[in-house]
Amino acid sequence: MKIAIIGNGITGVSAALRIRELKPDWDIVMISGESDFHYSRPALMYIYMGHMSYRDTKPYENGFWRDKRIEILRGWVTEIDTKNSRLLLHKKDPVNFDKLLLAVGSKPNKFGWPGQDLKGVQGLYDLMDLRELYENSKGLKHAVITGGGLIGIELAEMLHSRGVHVTFLVREKSYWNRILPNEESSMVNRIIEKEGIDLRLNTELEEITDNGKGRVGGVITKDGQKIECGLVGLTAGVSPQTVLADGAAIKTGRGILVDRGFKTDAENIYCAGDCAEIITGEERNLLQQVWYTGKAQGKAAGEAMCGIPTNYEPATWFNSAKFLDLEYQTYGQVNLSVEGEKNLYWEKPDGLAALRIVHTDDAVIGVNVMGLRYRHKVCEKWIEEKRPLDYVLDNLSEANFDPEFYSLYEKEIAGVFREQVR
Ligand SMILES: Cc1cc2nc3c(=O)[nH]c(=O)nc-3n(C[C@H](O)[C@H](O)[C@H](O)COP(=O)(O)OP(=O)(O)OC[C@H]3O[C@@H](n4cnc5c(N)ncnc54)[C@H](O)[C@@H]3O)c2cc1C
Repeated sequence: MKIAIIGNGITGVSAALRIRELKPDWDIVMISGESDFHYSRPALMYIYMGHMSYRDTKPYENGFWRDKRIEILRGWVTEIDTKNSRLLLHKKDPVNFDKLLLAVGSKPNKFGWPGQDLKGVQGLYDLMDLRELYENSKGLKHAVITGGGLIGIELAEMLHSRGVHVTFLVREKSYWNRILPNEESSMVNRIIEKEGIDLRLNTELEEITDNGKGRVGGVITKDGQKIECGLVGLTAGVSPQTVLADGAAIKTGRGILVDRGFKTDAENIYCAGDCAEIITGEERNLLQQVWYTGKAQGKAAGEAMCGIPTNYEPATWFNSAKFLDLEYQTYGQVNLSVEGEKNLYWEKPDGLAALRIVHTDDAVIGVNVMGLRYRHKVCEKWIEEKRPLDYVLDNLSEANFDPEFYSLYEKEIAGVFREQVR
């Protein structure tokens, strides 16, 4: 049996390793156009900021793949020949397969802004973007970032760390306000501004202007502001990469359509991770585009490809990120207006940490942690075991990572929460 996996991101490697575990004799080839070996995409920013070398972002030594007998192939797949079960590659020999996994990730959104293809306009997704950023930021004085999500704030921080003046355009009334509740979102606004980044809320990009030499010279916003700059970062979200599937007439919607066993509508072709849209049979299909879900989906898809009946159900939602120096973790259902939900919220007096517990009459359903670090397993367990609010309040300290912080604030947090419950 020959397995081909397109993509060596977290989804592709999780699938490859699971298949190897289950099927010691199968041939596995993992193909990527971006890099020879798997690296941690969320760590891209730390390479640019000098906190890590590229080498540090690779969780496995190069020899690991040889030891696992997983063939590594660097190259861009240009076509899936479904009829003959083979992949065509740019300037490389075709690769035959018995089963194929598409783990091709996402691509940054571009919304057809005039000037979006000028030199000096870029996204931040992969190593090619990172290289471009090194070039584009040579001697750069002023950058405009547009798109108020996680990648936007990362790019703003990266450039700011090198002394570039950054103007950060956010269409919403507050940073990442579709995801963060108002209080946490305001906290991030304050931190961005305090850092000296020029945050412009309620501000949308209209056009990117040419400096007369085919390079970006500035931007014009929908409300008529003209801002001169030498780089524009487009970070308005990502969309599943569907180009190969479309070319092979594999069914796509927003992503590559799969069932809960990660099967596409093409025989022996599976898909998982950022690029997959899981048909749920409910009102909305499932798109999951974070690291942890890539890992879970990759592993489950690997099992499915080995013939294990698979019916993927998303685990309790978890995400973590960093807004400049502010750490963020979220568990379960937060800011989703769940029927009957109530929110308890505590904020540290200096506005640099916060804790939110979302609950119904029966159980805690979500936890948001800003500027603190909570134990993943504990928060997840509270939600999965449907622990009632009283239980969680009595056991808050169990979740905290930092006993020093907690000895200072535990009483206050529990007191504020008990007060809010009344
Ligand atoms: C800058 C940045 C920061 C992020 N930070 C976080 C974070 O802090 N926390 C978090 O949970 N998530 C984060 N994410 C999201 C997370 O990185 C993705 O959800 C995850 O990488 C998706 O994994 P994947 O394996 O599905 O796809 P990808 O990591 O995108 O991997 C896809 C691979 O497919 C290859 N490929 C695609 N097309 C072809 C082709 N035609 N031929 C050959 N190879 C091909 C690409 O080269 C790539 O290696 C971040 C994303 C970015 C861009």
